[in-house]
Amino acid sequence: MGKIILKKNEEHRIRNGHLWIFSNEIEHKDAQNGEIIEVLDFKGKLLGHGFYNEHSLIAVRLLAGYYNGNFRDYVIESLHKALQLRAAFYPKRISFRLTHSESDYLPGLIIDRYNSTYVLQVYCTGIEQRINMIIEILKTEFKAENIFTLNDPHFRKLEGLPENDIIYLGNIREEVIDDGQLKYKIDFSHSQKTGFYFDQCDNRKYIEKLCKDKKVLDVFCNSGGFGLHAAHAGASWITFADSSKNSLDNAYFNFKLNGFKTPVEFICKDAFDLLEELKISASKYDLVIVDPPSFAKSKKNLQKALKGYEKLNRLAMAAVSGGGFLVSSSCSGHVSRGDFYKTIIEACRKSARKLQMVYFTGAAHDHPVIPAMPETSYLKFAVFRVM
Ligand code: SAH
Repeated sequence: MGKIILKKNEEHRIRNGHLWIFSNEIEHKDAQNGEIIEVLDFKGKLLGHGFYNEHSLIAVRLLAGYYNGNFRDYVIESLHKALQLRAAFYPKRISFRLTHSESDYLPGLIIDRYNSTYVLQVYCTGIEQRINMIIEILKTEFKAENIFTLNDPHFRKLEGLPENDIIYLGNIREEVIDDGQLKYKIDFSHSQKTGFYFDQCDNRKYIEKLCKDKKVLDVFCNSGGFGLHAAHAGASWITFADSSKNSLDNAYFNFKLNGFKTPVEFICKDAFDLLEELKISASKYDLVIVDPPSFAKSKKNLQKALKGYEKLNRLAMAAVSGGGFLVSSSCSGHVSRGDFYKTIIEACRKSARKLQMVYFTGAAHDHPVIPAMPETSYLKFAVFRVM
């Protein structure tokens, strides 16, 4: 078995529970690309096992302490532990994020389950080298009928992996899933991410408290989740908006699929243009939800991204009637909670509105966070009363 020895003092972060070793932290290495290796501290004490990658800045992705030398056993145990967690919070659901990468101790492996269709994202060379074993386990132990990848090329590139997608089992076909309350049609060939934004599931349910008899604007609606839950809670009017025609068509389909009769409109438009128009309109909303895509894909464009979030929140606040609510999200991992607050504070200052924050959280329970690893937490979700 290969091994790496860390430089002096580089073991502290790892002992705290962080699961990555960066290439500049290694004193000595004897390892093959993708191999499971031993990680030793400067004095030769074993810290754990992990996948080595010679092409990535993240040189080692650690496995959990229960790795006993048999990777098949490790995958089965990790998948069952992951499933247990989801079953505890979502006893009525079949579809959810089954594994959230390092957060479920399967480094660089995301598995979203849509009924018996399993959609994977693979961002770790060691996992990719053992993918056939994982597929076999999903098929035999988890009754998977369709398994394919829908990778983000950006993250594949960082790992030195080819930017392709593969159908491992069955085929790509549409699914209708439910989130415990509502149904959604998933069209994998036209959708974003792996097909559905599972990370906002709990937050969509949360906003129901605020929607009864209210006028709701769901900006960046994608499959319509927030607006649909507003309808479910008895909203009096809902505007769904997204710049993607496919997303908006899907939101409309889902609205019908759930049999809602609420008065609605569907607007295919850039969010900034729409909110600028609303600024001069007399018509305001009781609840405005903004759930934009990540504006900061890398640290390099963080400052520009923060300006974007600030402007978005400033415009969104202006569309809220006095005493109404602004629901604001950011899914960029490079934007810290502090950065997120700063954009809101700045937006308040520029629009001369006052806010009370009544709720702050992150992603749903099927996206756990490793406390020692800020990289595993990316979503910020806040609810403000606008004064
Ligand atoms: N709220 C959604 C997820 C939003 S994902 C849910 O609950 O599922 C972000 C969405 O923003 C995508 O659907 C994308 O098509 C849309 N989008 C991206 N840039 C946009 C822009 N400039 N204006 C409006 N929509 C945009």
